[in-house]
Amino acid sequence: MNKASISILLVEDNPTDAKLLQQTLWHLGKEKWRVVHLERLNDALKACSKNVFDLVLLDLSLPDSQGLNTLAKFSTTAPNIPTVVLTEFDDENIALQAVANSVQDYLVKGQITPNLLEHVIRYAIERRQILNELRECQHRLQGVFEQTSQSIVLLSCKGMIVEMNQSALNLWRTQQDCVGKPLWSLESWNLSSLNPGWLKSIIAKAADGEFLRHELQLRSANDFIQWIDFSVRPLKDETGKVVLLIVEACDVSEQKRAEAEMIKAWQQERELNEMKSNFVSMVSHEFRNPMSVIRTAVELLESYNHQLSDPQRSKYFGKIQTAIRQMQQLLDEVLFWGRSDAGKLQYEPTLQDLEHFCSELTQTLQLSASGKHQIIFRFQGKRTPVLVDENLLRYILTNLLSNAIKYSPQGGVIRFDVICQDDTITFQIQDSGIGIPIKDQQLLFETFHRASNVGTIPGTGLGLSIVKKCVELHQGQIDLESQVGVGTTFTVKLSLNHQSLQSLELIESGSDLQSLKHKSHRLSAGKNA
Ligand code: ATP
Ligand code: MG
Repeated sequence: MNKASISILLVEDNPTDAKLLQQTLWHLGKEKWRVVHLERLNDALKACSKNVFDLVLLDLSLPDSQGLNTLAKFSTTAPNIPTVVLTEFDDENIALQAVANSVQDYLVKGQITPNLLEHVIRYAIERRQILNELRECQHRLQGVFEQTSQSIVLLSCKGMIVEMNQSALNLWRTQQDCVGKPLWSLESWNLSSLNPGWLKSIIAKAADGEFLRHELQLRSANDFIQWIDFSVRPLKDETGKVVLLIVEACDVSEQKRAEAEMIKAWQQERELNEMKSNFVSMVSHEFRNPMSVIRTAVELLESYNHQLSDPQRSKYFGKIQTAIRQMQQLLDEVLFWGRSDAGKLQYEPTLQDLEHFCSELTQTLQLSASGKHQIIFRFQGKRTPVLVDENLLRYILTNLLSNAIKYSPQGGVIRFDVICQDDTITFQIQDSGIGIPIKDQQLLFETFHRASNVGTIPGTGLGLSIVKKCVELHQGQIDLESQVGVGTTFTVKLSLNHQSLQSLELIESGSDLQSLKHKSHRLSAGKNA
């Protein structure tokens, strides 16, 4: 068979008409066509399922089907074959309807000339090809439109929704029935209290040919807030007239969140840097005071040594010693803080006779306090050794008692109560000093924070932040009650854990303290591991 020949399915029940058509085709050149002639629609449909035809010449009045029904059945079964309808002279109306229903062309029997026939056949095939290509192209574009993750809304120049892809329906939380309505009627706009007037003006500008882009916040019914990158782009025809507006919007909430986190991290870093420089200036300031005391005292001793009486001399030596002690203390505190900040503080419990420990500590602090202060220590409850970390506990109590002394510049009584009851040890340190303003109370445990009423009382603001860490290492808690001008009470609660209960049993069964200490070391080693 000639490759260039066109295969034609002729469906015609009238033998005369069929013969006439075939003769006309042969007249045009036998080699140009390959014609299969059938008389019934069902036979034609079967043939189409088995063979490929380039064109069908279809008579609508067949023994098994009549009129437009014939066309409907045919195009349902063989939708891709270009179809030319054959009609009787008085059937032109039907033929026109058929053309409106995707038929490529029609021929009126009795008026078919060879040239007309060839022309109609070739054009029908060509038109069908163009239509197929157009459909494929449309199909591809529709696929992209529907499946892109970018949300796209097509608007008329007046802002009415023409089409919305699936991503846009999801983003704007709406359904297909919004087509034909204005964009500003969508619920997301109304919930977000975004001004519809603003959107209308944006659309008007875009209809005038401007491209506009904004970041918006949308709010959903359940108060979920989304950040949207929203743009309106005018689509122009070849004459430059705006025919459609393309609204694109993408959800940038994640980026916004990441941005906010970055800003937060940057702020934290800035605060940290500020804290570091505060720390440096604080520490240098705290060192400068005792150092200038030492310098002045040394200069006086050097220049006027012979003129000074013994009591005067020992007064200056005393000042030097106090200043050195202060610097030593500050250095210890800074080093201790450095270790706690690096997470290097260890909880290493040993058995302690709490009453003895606290009483010694009270005496030491009483000695270093001025004569204006009196520390009254009281112990209540079971007098049995308990497992605590000696260093951490010393740090906690020394700091709280020193603060009580330091922040009671008028002097007075400081009550130090220790209560060992049930499974809890409670330490309470109460002073009648300057007190702490409410606004500062929650911040005192943060590094370097000092209350606004400290005046000229020296300090770095490190003590309580370390105290808190030491308490936490004991899995305890610290609280405070304070009133400006009345006084302050700090309460630390540590729970007596399982090991200390075991040690109590051992004590009661008569073991000596040495073996208990040995046992507690083993226990603490196990705990730290
Ligand atoms: P240092 O690091 O030398 O202890 P500091 O005493 O200033 O310096 P913290 O012990 O951490 O630092 O105390 C923080 C702040 O809490 C103090 O600056 C002070 O304002 C306040 N404060 C602590 N204890 C008392 C108290 N008993 N009475 C009044 N204010 C107190
Ligand atoms: Mg302090």
